[in-house]
Amino acid sequence: MTHYSGSCACGAVTLRIDGEPLAVRQCWCRRCQKIAAGGPTHNAIFPAGSIVTEGTTASDSYIADSGNTLTRSHCAACGTPIFSASSARPQMRVVRLGVLDAPHGLRPTAAIWTSEAPEWAILDPAMEHFPAQPPAPGAPLQS
Ligand SMILES: [Zn+2]
Ligand SMILES: [Zn+2]
Repeated sequence: MTHYSGSCACGAVTLRIDGEPLAVRQCWCRRCQKIAAGGPTHNAIFPAGSIVTEGTTASDSYIADSGNTLTRSHCAACGTPIFSASSARPQMRVVRLGVLDAPHGLRPTAAIWTSEAPEWAILDPAMEHFPAQPPAPGAPLQS
């Protein structure tokens, strides 16, 4: 089984993940631009049960454009985003790619919420693009 390890910027929070992500995406929604200092967030979606964190995290929740409640967890000491969870998919965690130790070999295959990207954003044409929220990984594509 594949293992991933990671930590926040200050090292107070560490995590270990066993298994492969269901999807790796970058998100250009406005809220992600705020937490990512202007760019997109990069996220790997893992089953919640595959992740073990150590150290103190803090969290905040908000209602997303999708209508779901999103809870973001970050290091209580340095603020590094660790992962988020959606009320619609409580069995999943959206892990911020930046916390994973390199080289992890993961790369985004889709860009989501591209309708909210700034006009200078460079969107890799090799990625799948979604103007807003795409279907959940593993869910059938809507026609
Ligand atoms: Zn930290
Ligand atoms: Zn976003």
